[in-house]
Amino acid sequence: MKTKSSSTFLALVAVALHLVASSAEKRPNILFVFSDDHAPHAIGAYEGWLKSVNPTPNIDKLAAQGMLFENSFCTNSICGPSRAVIQTGKHSHKNGFMNNGNTFDWNQQTFPKLLQKVGYQTAIYGKSHLRGNPKGFDDWAVLPGQGLYYNPDMIFPDGKRRVEGYCTDVVTDFAVDWLKNKRKTNKPFMLMVQHKAPHRNWMPALRHLDLYANKDLPEPPTLFDKWEDNAPPARNQELEIDRHMDLNYDLFVDLTPGYNQPASQKRQDRSAWHNMKRMTEEQLKAWRAAYGPRDAAFHKSKLKGKDLVRWKFQRYAKNYLRCVKGVDESLGRLQKTLEELKLDDNTVVIYCSDQGFYIGDHGWYDKRWMYDESLKMPFVIKWPGVTKSGTRDKHLVQNLDYAETFLEMAGAPIPEDMQGKSLVPLLKGESPKDWRKGIYYHYYEYPSVHMVPRHYGIRTSRYKLMKFYQFDEWEFYDLKKDPDELKNLYGDATQATKIKRTKAQLEKLRKDYDDDSDVKVMPKEWQNRVRPSKG
Ligand code: CA
Repeated sequence: MKTKSSSTFLALVAVALHLVASSAEKRPNILFVFSDDHAPHAIGAYEGWLKSVNPTPNIDKLAAQGMLFENSFCTNSICGPSRAVIQTGKHSHKNGFMNNGNTFDWNQQTFPKLLQKVGYQTAIYGKSHLRGNPKGFDDWAVLPGQGLYYNPDMIFPDGKRRVEGYCTDVVTDFAVDWLKNKRKTNKPFMLMVQHKAPHRNWMPALRHLDLYANKDLPEPPTLFDKWEDNAPPARNQELEIDRHMDLNYDLFVDLTPGYNQPASQKRQDRSAWHNMKRMTEEQLKAWRAAYGPRDAAFHKSKLKGKDLVRWKFQRYAKNYLRCVKGVDESLGRLQKTLEELKLDDNTVVIYCSDQGFYIGDHGWYDKRWMYDESLKMPFVIKWPGVTKSGTRDKHLVQNLDYAETFLEMAGAPIPEDMQGKSLVPLLKGESPKDWRKGIYYHYYEYPSVHMVPRHYGIRTSRYKLMKFYQFDEWEFYDLKKDPDELKNLYGDATQATKIKRTKAQLEKLRKDYDDDSDVKVMPKEWQNRVRPSKG
């Protein structure tokens, strides 16, 4: 028989356990929806010359429900390095993944591992781009390398197999299935849904092939930029729509009768067929029905010069935005799943992408540069009960900050050696006085695909200073007067004071982040150790 005091004790224990349980339940779930190469200016909620096209109603809805970061930047504008920074909360030179050809050390500290330690369950589906089997995840399925748009192979804990379907839908299917059927309902979760789209080579879902078919997209104001007032690197790259974008490989124009299928294997690997051969007969039929008549009209028109550039831009930007449309629909489906499972009130939903992209801006495609179009990352986040609906934040934030943000959301300790800043105060609407005044950038992949030289630099809210250190070339831009970065002011005597001040800020950042990787790497290694990549 229980005494009164022991039953009171038991009742108190029960209350305490309930409090622990309910506070644990209050820790938010985190749904991280991440795409590849999706520039902010291809999102309706962001500003820019594509705003009237608006392929992203679901991302816009997320922005209306939460907070949009207007000044969100990457640290190194290519696929693998951006993902490595997110995993570790450390710059490339600290996490060891500087180039797309590198292999990520999965034994190092990552934020999903730290979330697991405090009781989160974690999963990742889609593009990892870090090589090796992911660690720190309770369940996962990743694309090998870049992954393919149609019927992709995927690597599972028990091996690799082909999955039928369109990649964006396939990845979403895995995530929805995990949320509905595989997840333990007694633990908070962190789920990463990482799309290949809209990465090169831009292949839309069959249901989107006719999107924008009967209209011209607006052109970027800098489509015919000749980089006359930039430093020499901008004139010596290989990412021009005019000279470098391939009609067949990049744009799927059928150059020979035979439906894009060259005879030799070597030529196939460098052609559209490399990606098209994954399609089923039915998929190929729908693809040819959509593009066949457009290709015939193109061949008949015999376009040249600027008209040809304009045509290539239209084909490219339309395919890019069609791929974006698929990603936007994925976000919509995931949000709907959260609602169906009644998880939407306690789940942080994030939409972002690994870097920005040139959608014909400056006449280019691809990324890599510290110029704003590829430096910027979209970052839109809803945290029910914390972020105020429809707010826009102007603080300087980076992918470097995500790990610490997620750890703070989960009530996990933040390791001393992480280099970012938790965004939680900003998400609460605070404006910390000691917030960073400049972000640091360092790109390493040269010589390599697209030939963008190594450079590091700082971007403040007003100015940008960068150094192409292999060639001792500097650039300085006043982003208020020259948002398109057309006029390098580095040699301008009237700017000397500002340049000196910004240079001191840059040196301080390099010291704070402990980055001397530019001087540690010898020129011979640049030539021999950097594997060309398709990133
Ligand atoms: Ca990317």
